[in-house]
Amino acid sequence: TAKPVPQAVAVEDLNDETSFTIHASVQKQRHQLSVYKQRDNLLYLVENHGTTIVVAETGSGKTTQIPQLLVEAGWAEGGRTIACTQPRQIAAQTIAARVAEEMRVTLGTKVGYSVRFDEVATRGVTQIKYMTDGVLLREMMSDPLLSSYSVIMVDEAHERSIATDILLGLLKKIIKRRPDLRIVVASATMDIKAFHDFFDTSREKLQNSIHRESVPNRSPAVLSVEGRTHSVLIHYCDKPVQDYVRTAVSTTIAIHKIEGPGDILVFLTGQDDVNAAVQMISEEAEKLPRALVALPLYAGLPASDQELVMRPSLSGRRKVVLATNIAETSVTLPGIVYVIDSGFSKQKFYNPITNVEALVAAPISQASADQRAGRAGRERPGKCFRLYTEDAHAAMRPERLPEIQKGNLLSTILQLKALGIDNVMQFDWLAPPPAELMVRALELLFALGVMDGHAKLTSPLGHQVSELPLDPMSAKMLLTAAQTGCQKEGLTIAAVLTVQTIWASGRERKEMDEARAQFAVAEGDMISYLNVFEGYLHVKNRNQWCYENCVNYHALAKVAKVRSQLSTLLQQLGGPRQQQHDGDVKLVAKAVTAGFFPNAARLEAEGGNTYRSLRGNQELFIHPSSVLFRASPKWVVFQSIIFLERHYMWNVTAINPAWLTELAPHFYQLKG
Ligand code: ADP
Ligand code: MG
Repeated sequence: TAKPVPQAVAVEDLNDETSFTIHASVQKQRHQLSVYKQRDNLLYLVENHGTTIVVAETGSGKTTQIPQLLVEAGWAEGGRTIACTQPRQIAAQTIAARVAEEMRVTLGTKVGYSVRFDEVATRGVTQIKYMTDGVLLREMMSDPLLSSYSVIMVDEAHERSIATDILLGLLKKIIKRRPDLRIVVASATMDIKAFHDFFDTSREKLQNSIHRESVPNRSPAVLSVEGRTHSVLIHYCDKPVQDYVRTAVSTTIAIHKIEGPGDILVFLTGQDDVNAAVQMISEEAEKLPRALVALPLYAGLPASDQELVMRPSLSGRRKVVLATNIAETSVTLPGIVYVIDSGFSKQKFYNPITNVEALVAAPISQASADQRAGRAGRERPGKCFRLYTEDAHAAMRPERLPEIQKGNLLSTILQLKALGIDNVMQFDWLAPPPAELMVRALELLFALGVMDGHAKLTSPLGHQVSELPLDPMSAKMLLTAAQTGCQKEGLTIAAVLTVQTIWASGRERKEMDEARAQFAVAEGDMISYLNVFEGYLHVKNRNQWCYENCVNYHALAKVAKVRSQLSTLLQQLGGPRQQQHDGDVKLVAKAVTAGFFPNAARLEAEGGNTYRSLRGNQELFIHPSSVLFRASPKWVVFQSIIFLERHYMWNVTAINPAWLTELAPHFYQLKG
């Protein structure tokens, strides 16, 4: 499945001599990275210790160099693979492309990547596989001991994503059975005590079946790599900022006018912020004498745009990259001298009482603020402009909270169950989640019918849900749709729910509303997407059609790809099913309810627009971009919540309340 990557093609296009020069300079750059210089130490430690923890600041070569050094030392011999996990898809993809270029190979051969619904790697050939932590967890379902890997590098461990925490817990089990496996934990922050203590198994008894001689040292080694950083001058605001997007824009323009050369990196919270700022800066830039190019960087950006961001800016031009948290540690941008830090990032918070999980722009930690500032001092002394006061900085929490302690554990618990961890309470957690979150997840899994009264996965539903690379509620929706004869519709909806939005961004509100109205049906967003997808499938020039209908072409292309993969998976799970009810939207809405019933809400009063969640009585509103925004149906289910100044329901479906008691009798009971 090798795919050409734009960067690699560009190098090959040049004549041999230029290509050689470029490569020589890439090699020279490599040898200057501080991680590369620690090569002998690193290889010695990995050889002799089961776990090696590497601490080095962002940009020192952890992600790009360690796997290459391991290959050079022979860890990929005999068809074995070195895995390097990332919390984010976009990081796995960009870094794999970069390393393929450094090794002068085509992406998908010796170097590859694997993220959900997109694998560019070749079995038996790929020596280094960059992958999301979630994908490696899934691989464990078919290969519990991860037998094809010789080394697993858990990168960006300091981010403490849920999947990383779980992965570390499982890896600790695996190395007890596989003395030949090595683990490398890489972190950009010094706060590694938790990892060290967790992996220190030197006091535990060895399993009888394992020969003492074959076992590496069971205390983790720590390699702390000194980096060269330049000083970064920090500026705070005197008083709190009202609108950080606008302030970021005006600060960018001011830097461009006053400060010396060097690119600018701005940390905002999400795709919306980023796109708004790109547009504002681009408009301002037209009035300026010197060129200023604004580029976005967020998860889900098409590959061609990612590549633009990674390219050094042309001389005489200044580049400003508007990024989400992704630029904090996972990708290194060349040429940055100025950082503007909004002080916020989008974080997931789950409230077990109201059952509302929302992505909220919340203050970052001091550790994150330091990381962000550090991006300015990579190549020479830089400046960081914090769009908050010094007092606000002092009030931030010092370290970031592990995601597992504040997130929704539904998928996590299900996966642990599928991996045979029956007693999740007793799992060897790096940091245990609050019991309340676990209980809540167990309760939901039971209500969804994927777990039985003995906390075991049900057959076949529980196993099928865990096999699908979807969140459990989407998976249940899809399986129900397939069972009730509307598989086609279920597949499309499940695929659409894997992308952030299928609508274009940066259009006028009125234009958007009109475009959406053409596809809208009374049953709501999810069913309206079926019309959009049908429209897309049946036109010749899809790109143009998408433009004209305010639909995001890249998003729909991805939907089509994901849909066909899901279709194959579904077939493998239960054999081909008959499509019986073509276009029966009631059945489709009912299947949606079967999956998303935990997210049900009721209109508070006729004629109003306030909803209340059935569980927890949380105040909710329909998102203004929903096709049901004006219709305000009495009963709805939704996919997720977006918190702006209110809790908005996202991807809303109108339902018949009788379905709730029919489909989830343990969860909802009729009153009186
Ligand atoms: P770390 O993982 O320690 O943060 P990386 O291995 O990601 O460091 O990056 C090491 C160096 O490689 C960076 O300092 C940067 O100069 C270079 N680099 C990484 N990715 C790219 C890329 N896509 N394009 C150009 N240079 C890159
Ligand atoms: Mg890295």
